[in-house]
Amino acid sequence: MICIPITARSTEDTVSGMVLASKYADIVELRIDYIPELQNALTCIEKILQSKTKPVIITNRPEREGGKFNGSEQDRLHLLQKAVDLGADYVDIEYDSIEQIIRQNSSKIIISHHNFKETPHNLSKIYDDICQHKPDIVKIVTYANDITDNIRIFELLKSARVPTISFCMGELGNISRILTGKFGGLLTFASLEKGKESAPGQLTINELSKTYHFKEINNETKLYGIIGNPVSHSMSPAIHNASFIEKGLNNVYVPLKITDIGAFMKECRKIDFHGFSVTIPHKESVLPFLDDIDLTAKRIGAINTIVNQNGKLTGYNTDCMAAVMGLESSLKETNKILNNKKISIIGAGGAARAIAFGLKEKGCDITIFNRTIERAEKLSHDVKCRFGSFKEIHKLDSDILINTTSIGMFPDVDQTPVSKNILKEGMIVFDAIYNPIETRLLREAKGKGCHTINGLSMFINQAAEQFRLWTNIDPPVELMTNVVKEML
Ligand code: NAP
Repeated sequence: MICIPITARSTEDTVSGMVLASKYADIVELRIDYIPELQNALTCIEKILQSKTKPVIITNRPEREGGKFNGSEQDRLHLLQKAVDLGADYVDIEYDSIEQIIRQNSSKIIISHHNFKETPHNLSKIYDDICQHKPDIVKIVTYANDITDNIRIFELLKSARVPTISFCMGELGNISRILTGKFGGLLTFASLEKGKESAPGQLTINELSKTYHFKEINNETKLYGIIGNPVSHSMSPAIHNASFIEKGLNNVYVPLKITDIGAFMKECRKIDFHGFSVTIPHKESVLPFLDDIDLTAKRIGAINTIVNQNGKLTGYNTDCMAAVMGLESSLKETNKILNNKKISIIGAGGAARAIAFGLKEKGCDITIFNRTIERAEKLSHDVKCRFGSFKEIHKLDSDILINTTSIGMFPDVDQTPVSKNILKEGMIVFDAIYNPIETRLLREAKGKGCHTINGLSMFINQAAEQFRLWTNIDPPVELMTNVVKEML
């Protein structure tokens, strides 16, 4: 279930907020602590309970538990008691106040505990203490300082004895808000829109419904995610979730912002992720934590995909074939083939590594140019090709020029890695950047009569191959492309 909290400051705005929220939510939460003045708050409770069309939770959170109520404790409890007396569907009472409330009528009591600093290690003890007070619903909300804090919340949910609401707050707690239904959590909270969150890390109703299909998630749902840092702007959740829905798969894909890759790779095995995408900065650092690495990925020395088959985690690199596929299909349009082509690759990072190995296998004659010459030398040694410094780029003499640096990527769209003077008519110019779709390099290359290839095909191809590895199903490539184009 989805609950939308109303955090308006007047009765009028609260009622209109409730009407709007009731269109999307299963339950609405009236955050009475946002309304100044005791009398206004009382009127608001009465008005809401008279006009509600969906079940309502009445909450009056004190400042000590992250709320806005700053009056006396007596007044705070008086409002909560009033909500119980009026028969509100649910009333949220903090664990340390439960003995002050007389329980009567049909109101269900949520006994809650909030920790805005951390996810403590004594979650089971807190749960047991709350249960001693015979709650109708237990609510334990903590703060995630590390992604693995969510995993402890999932374990708590799995062992719950009464209906339970539990998740982590903060950016790192997002996944527990999205996945709570898989582990038996009663509901999640969502804001009506950005800026109307009642707690840190709350997603909007739109994100929960449109990107993550929250209501479709159940205990059978298979989990996938993207391991990286940062990941909040990744387009992969939108692409893969849309593809899972398109193919009728009960799967969900979430962003996983990972700082300590070793700790995550150990803990993630507890909750049965079926696969991961891997992005910057973990494409190489994740290798020691895998059970097996595909041969091509081993030679490249980096992966971007993990498949979990019966508990065995295997790493793959789909960037490599994605780049080669993109180049080959573009060359087909000009009736050319990759074999024996002279190729200059600018950059010597992860993308360059994957592309260089893929093209070497196709028999291409490669030169790597990079700002940090030592990195170019190392890559050229591994791939067995030539290398040069950035200053030598003007000497390049190639059929194909490939940019794998981030120069020209959003927001620095006015930059370009090479002077347009080195671009020659008939040259093929491929930019791995896909945001923007047409970089300055590609624009200038077009102007010089070059054949240009943007990074979108590589991006889509790598995601499509991930999808195939995880599901053994043909990926919906057109849909994937449309999702990315829409987002860009
Ligand atoms: P990376 O491993 O961090 O490598 C970055 C590369 O860019 C290095 O060679 C670095 O040179 C160079 N660089 C960065 N800023 C520079 C500057 N100001 N001047 C000169 N060189 C600079 O990153 P990556 O994973 O290879 O990604 C690189 C680019 O490829 C990004 O734009 C990414 O979006 C794109 N990419 C696209 C796809 C796709 O599917 N289309 C896939 C992967 C990556 P130094 O070694 O000197 O630092």
